[in-house]
Amino acid sequence: KELGGGRVHWFDAAMDDRAADSARLSADLEQALTHGEMFLLYQPIVELPSHRRAGVEVLLRWRHPQRGLIAPDVFIPMAERSGLILDIGLWVLENACRQGALWQHRYGDDAPAKVSINVSALQLAEPGFVADVEDILARTGVDRSRLMLEITETAVLDSGPALAAVRELRQRGLRVALDDFGTGQSSLSLLLDCPVDVLKVDKSFVSGSAVSNAGAAIVEGLIGFTSRLHLEAVAEGVETTEQAEHLHSAGYRLAQGYLFGRPIPAEAVEAAIDETVKKKSLSVG
Ligand code: C2E
Ligand code: MG
Ligand code: MG
Ligand code: MG
Repeated sequence: KELGGGRVHWFDAAMDDRAADSARLSADLEQALTHGEMFLLYQPIVELPSHRRAGVEVLLRWRHPQRGLIAPDVFIPMAERSGLILDIGLWVLENACRQGALWQHRYGDDAPAKVSINVSALQLAEPGFVADVEDILARTGVDRSRLMLEITETAVLDSGPALAAVRELRQRGLRVALDDFGTGQSSLSLLLDCPVDVLKVDKSFVSGSAVSNAGAAIVEGLIGFTSRLHLEAVAEGVETTEQAEHLHSAGYRLAQGYLFGRPIPAEAVEAAIDETVKKKSLSVG
């Protein structure tokens, strides 16, 4: 009994520590933008089987001055709880659009055809969001046909305003992808209310596709399903050539994952584009 009591006490203390730690991190997050601690990385989305770059996904990073890199899976939920996601989300949009516009002007047809940006459902539910997006498009000069907004299903997306924003954005010529498709975060029911352009098939199915029958069946089933709905499919989290070959033979045209490239800074994307352009001019000239 005494031991049990002691153990409970120990757990409480550990939980307090964790809560305090998380509260400190969340407080630090408030200054992260103004202190210039946030930056963007870009991960290629490629065509199968050529591995030609079709686009990039923009992935946010936070370099904490003492703790180093903090994963978005840690700080995005914090930002959503505090409401800071609205400012952070606009910062991401503005900077990603600025980058997209720069590549569009510098590289033309050799620029990544699509810049895909993660958007929180809380941003979508915010009344001025569509107007903010229009402002950013006008200010940065990026071509809206080059943008893709990635959303995941949450309780907020079940609400009217967020769904209305998705519809409005699509009417205005922006494309929308449903992220992590097939997980609890994004499911079939959303497609009934919320038409999108692209399904991003979650990496949990992709990693299972080459090893288990169930994984393979889901990956193959989803491609049939997306083509019936006239949606495009992107396979996420491709790490092995075996997975890539299976996806290609199942009919996937687009894929993303460490096999093709990790998230990298803008300058590294530019170096890769320069390389492709050089090769092209060599083979032509
Ligand atoms: P996501 O949108 O599904 O992004 C894909 C995640 O999978 C990224 O993790 C990426 O680095 C990782 N990934 C890519 N290829 C592979 C692979 O082959 N294997 C494995 N194991 N992982 C791979 P990351 O960058 O840590 O981001 C995690 C999540 O945080 C994102 O998932 C997204 O939901 C969220 N996030 C990131 N940036 C933003 C942002 O700017 N705004 C919002 N609202 N959410 C963001
Ligand atoms: Mg995403
Ligand atoms: Mg995803
Ligand atoms: Mg995700």
